Amino acid sequence: MSTATNTVLTQLPPLALYIHIPWCWHKCPYCDFNSHTFKPTVNEMNYVEVLLLDLEAALPQIWGRTIYSIFIGGGTPSLFSGDAIDKLLSGVRKLVKLSPFAEITLEANPGTIDNEHLKDYSKSGVNRLSLGIQSFNDKHLLALGRIHDSAMAIKAINQAQQYFKQINLDLMYGLPEQTMQQLQQDITQATSFNTSHLSFYNLTIEPNTKFFVTPPANLPDNDQCYLMQNLIITNLAQQNFQRYEVSAYAQQTNYSKHNLNYWLFGDYLGIGAGAHSKLSFHDKIIRQVRQKHPQTYINQVPKAQHINENCAVNSCDLPFEFMLNAMRLIDGFSTNLFVERTGLSLNVILPKLLLAQQQRFIKLEQQKIIPTTHGINFLNDALLIFLD
Ligand code: SF4
Repeated sequence: MSTATNTVLTQLPPLALYIHIPWCWHKCPYCDFNSHTFKPTVNEMNYVEVLLLDLEAALPQIWGRTIYSIFIGGGTPSLFSGDAIDKLLSGVRKLVKLSPFAEITLEANPGTIDNEHLKDYSKSGVNRLSLGIQSFNDKHLLALGRIHDSAMAIKAINQAQQYFKQINLDLMYGLPEQTMQQLQQDITQATSFNTSHLSFYNLTIEPNTKFFVTPPANLPDNDQCYLMQNLIITNLAQQNFQRYEVSAYAQQTNYSKHNLNYWLFGDYLGIGAGAHSKLSFHDKIIRQVRQKHPQTYINQVPKAQHINENCAVNSCDLPFEFMLNAMRLIDGFSTNLFVERTGLSLNVILPKLLLAQQQRFIKLEQQKIIPTTHGINFLNDALLIFLD
């Protein structure tokens, strides 16, 4: 039985801005993101105008607050021209107080970029590029339904390095018929570029995807995926990539500021079709979801009817929501952070923390909560403890 009290926040957390571009060349069979096939009727400049209208309408909810990071994600934001991204970021700068040190990330697909695009994104203020590489093995890229091959991935990384210091490469493991040797080749190739950041995600079969209806043959099982993850961790550590989150690895603390804000239970305003927001106020924390279908979103923004869900988080759900994010951090987090971000007393979750410690999911030391390796490996089991 929860003893949670009402939320009273003494200070607001840092704020980030997420911008969703909901189109891709075509839908990958494993993808459950809000992405729709790009059609020639998509008008990028019109969508940018709608995004800025959405942001303007949301201003009263973030009044006076500084934005510390922007993430333009998708979908495939790199389908948009440099001019469209420039218009978007100029518009954002006019509307909000953007930190001069803001991290501005754009997600790019190696199959949609060239030198010109990259140069223009960089000129418009994007200072971090996240490239969806997934694998350097052509057979695996084909199985994943990607529009690029290995040569295009390598070319895109080399070109991106001319314009961006901060580059993340997204890779996947646990792919159909993937062997340890093939994974090793992907790791060796990925680290050879010496980018600031790498992410390695385990392929999972999600509902509402083609793979869910027709699962690919010969997927590595859980035991093999565990060995694959260990191969990644060991190899990346040898190459000075620090694992700071379940799937994220950085060189010299080049952490993703935007993602770190999610894991530290910071605030984010999400604009664009289907974007999610979490916003804190003195006496409540709210979550919002915008209309998911791009055309519905575009039609509804001018009528101020684009917010599909808008609700205050029940204070008894906050401990689980906080832990769902923070337990992903390899080095843990301070107990004060829980109090600061949720407005609840630590006593609210103390019995659960002690149970999690007893079950070897976390260590409690010097006002810090640190997930153990066992806790990270069995994260879902650990989180069940915090479910009210
Ligand atoms: S490119 Fe990314 S967002 Fe688009 S369909 Fe593929 S996985 Fe989904």
